[in-house]
Amino acid sequence: MMTKMDWTPEMTQMLRSLRAKRGVNAISFTDIAERMTQRFGVPFTKNACIGKAFRLRLRKSRRVKSGRKKKAEQIQARAEALATPVPIEAVPEAETTPVAAPIQPLLRRRIKGQPIDIYQLRYIDCRWPLGPPLAKPPFMYCGCPTEPGKVYCPAHHERAHSTPQPRKATL
Ligand SMILES: [Zn+2]
Repeated sequence: MMTKMDWTPEMTQMLRSLRAKRGVNAISFTDIAERMTQRFGVPFTKNACIGKAFRLRLRKSRRVKSGRKKKAEQIQARAEALATPVPIEAVPEAETTPVAAPIQPLLRRRIKGQPIDIYQLRYIDCRWPLGPPLAKPPFMYCGCPTEPGKVYCPAHHERAHSTPQPRKATL
């Protein structure tokens, strides 16, 4: 009749912890059955505890083995998965950086009225310096289209030739 009894996780846990005691503290199955009977208010027999412990040990050892194998495989798979993206992530980063550098100025250049820096400045762009005379890099320039043979756009050309500009001398 005890074999039909449903072992709750608490009962199983108690049996495990009692069976785990070794040496001087080892508890006999008779004592275990007695303690569990008191604890749970259900009659536990020595044989029921032995049978359960036997089944637990069998199942436990099998589970642990397969579980460890699976876990080891999972860990290895995860480690491989983690190891793989690192070079993959690193490669596009290294590739995009030099690619993005020339593309970005070209994209920025198309925005009309947007100042450009020295690296974007072409001979056909207005090189009228923007910002205060002692501004720190990156120095920005007007960047508007110039007329042929002129270094400034029409507006800046006029300004450069009509009023004395201290910045003009440096260019
Ligand atoms: Zn200009």
